[in-house]
Amino acid sequence: MSGAPHVLVVNAGSSSLKYSLVDATTGASPGGGLVERISEQVGTVIHEGPEGEVRIEGAVADHEAAFALALAAFEEHGPSLAAYDVVAVGHRAVHGGDRFSAPVRVTDEVCRAIEDLVPLAPLHNPANLEGIAGARALFPDLPHVAVFDTAFHQSLPEHAWTYAVPRSWASEHAIRRYGFHGTSFSFVSRAAAELLGKPLEETNLIVAHLGNGASITAVRGGASVETSMGMTPLEGLVMGTRSGDVDPALHAHLHRELGLSLDEIDTELNRNSGLKGLAGENDFREVLRMRTDGDEGACLAFDVYCHRLRKYVGAYYAVLGRVDAVVFTGGVGENAAPVRAESLAGLAELGITVDAERNAAPNGEPRAISPDGSRVAVLVVPTDEEWEIARQAVEVIGAS
Ligand code: ADP
Repeated sequence: MSGAPHVLVVNAGSSSLKYSLVDATTGASPGGGLVERISEQVGTVIHEGPEGEVRIEGAVADHEAAFALALAAFEEHGPSLAAYDVVAVGHRAVHGGDRFSAPVRVTDEVCRAIEDLVPLAPLHNPANLEGIAGARALFPDLPHVAVFDTAFHQSLPEHAWTYAVPRSWASEHAIRRYGFHGTSFSFVSRAAAELLGKPLEETNLIVAHLGNGASITAVRGGASVETSMGMTPLEGLVMGTRSGDVDPALHAHLHRELGLSLDEIDTELNRNSGLKGLAGENDFREVLRMRTDGDEGACLAFDVYCHRLRKYVGAYYAVLGRVDAVVFTGGVGENAAPVRAESLAGLAELGITVDAERNAAPNGEPRAISPDGSRVAVLVVPTDEEWEIARQAVEVIGAS
């Protein structure tokens, strides 16, 4: 048996389940996979292990059945879970409201609290609960830990999380900024401070997590003090299919003028806006390719995306007062050099410069892309949310 503590990291969606065995010390994963089409007649597991990728079909009536299939995949195709010191199951949980400011060991009471938060995350929290219930049924002897996407942002000061709306909306209906991607911001902030060679407690960072969803956070001394996503993940930056910031009066206007229902508007802003709305394509690689070919929509989408990002960098610079580094992460942030160059162009007066050669060099490692000696470093730090969940799970069970 490998003595290093390992965590089975789980990310449950409504019809899918991602699972990964993760070494909490190194982040290495000897195996994992994805179960798709849960609750349809035949589901699929795409399992990665020592034999490479294998596809298995089977009945996955619910999340418990999906776990059973994943376990069978581990047994038949490896790696054998018995060969590892599996100390916990770590669950990604989306919305912890203002109830959870840190990861917690899962109990029936914690499950009830996640259930109470369903109105804030009607798609995600029920799926997370299904995943937790399924995993607890199959691994009754292991501790289960829930790691919330919102928890990292519970350090926001009141003036940053408060919307300027009637106060009773916040006190009676929990309407406020929560922020998301917290697991990633936590991981990337620590890694960035390490790269800078500064204690995290003395480091001020602007971290842009740019994936399919995208958000940006001002981190002072390791704590989130402002973040662009709000009560839901719709607010803030331009994303793959989400609009990010719009005038809140848009809803009333669209309802009055186009006769759209609130649900229809919600769907349009979440699913058919952002890059997809402007360029007809939500995959950033494709947007970049179309832009190179001179496609007008893709050029506009790129410009709007970078302009919004630049606007937030400026705002968060002002929030922090002093910035040690601007950090890019996520599929777009880690790979799309033109986004990094364009969103930070012309900011030398603020001490922010991107070195063109460093920016263009492909490299999967955490690295600086600013010239040596820059007042504000510009960093690219690949995120690893699964490792962060494993690490936090081990910390929680160590403490409890
Ligand atoms: P998620 O938010 O689902 O975790 P990722 O962080 O994996 O997503 O980011 C996905 C986005 O990253 C997609 O828009 C994809 O096109 C983009 N991306 C991935 N690789 C590249 C690349 N080499 N250049 C530009 N964009 C990329």
